[in-house]
Amino acid sequence: MKPVEITNLSEQPEWQAEQYTIPVGVSNRHVHLSPEDVEILFGPGYSLVPDRELSQPGQFAAKEKVTLLGPKGFIQGVRILGPARGATQVEISRTDGFHLGVHAPVRLSGDIEGTPGITLIGPNGCVVLKQGVIVAKRHVHMSPADAERFQVKNGDTIILQTPGDRPIIYPDVVVRVSDRFVLDFHVDLDEGNAANLRTGDYVYMTGKNGQLLTRTGR
Ligand SMILES: [Zn+2]
Repeated sequence: MKPVEITNLSEQPEWQAEQYTIPVGVSNRHVHLSPEDVEILFGPGYSLVPDRELSQPGQFAAKEKVTLLGPKGFIQGVRILGPARGATQVEISRTDGFHLGVHAPVRLSGDIEGTPGITLIGPNGCVVLKQGVIVAKRHVHMSPADAERFQVKNGDTIILQTPGDRPIIYPDVVVRVSDRFVLDFHVDLDEGNAANLRTGDYVYMTGKNGQLLTRTGR
């Protein structure tokens, strides 16, 4: 694949066409809870109450919130995302980490081995996590049909560029393909603010697996 010859970045190449756009979802700090931790924090037999649907089918922002307590500070009103799942995981921004005194590595969701812990405080009790705090690694969700259209497979990385007057290029966005996913580019609040991105904005795919697309999009 021949790299793009970049002579004038303000010129719109053909890959900035609709077929290469991906919607953006900016995630604020949030918590995924195991079924056991739901009961410890909110009471025996409790189940999370959906407040609003998220972009990925079946996922929801719950009405419930917890307080995060770290060695240096606390953050109240942190949203629980449902449904409850295997292991409890806390996703914070780098900025939150400084406030809490918890310096978490950048990881994909579910990859929590060796990450720091934190204390969760709910209305019914506390959970002292030994591990599970991450700064979420930016990623794109895609259905198999989207993956076909973008000609990528699960685990590939793509290069994304933001539009606007302060464009940013993300060189290494991990692609996650599943028939349970819909197309969405997920960044955390620090990344979203740094790039002036909001949920519902769009980015362009400009390359994959470290190589820029040619100007005709191939
Ligand atoms: Zn995601």
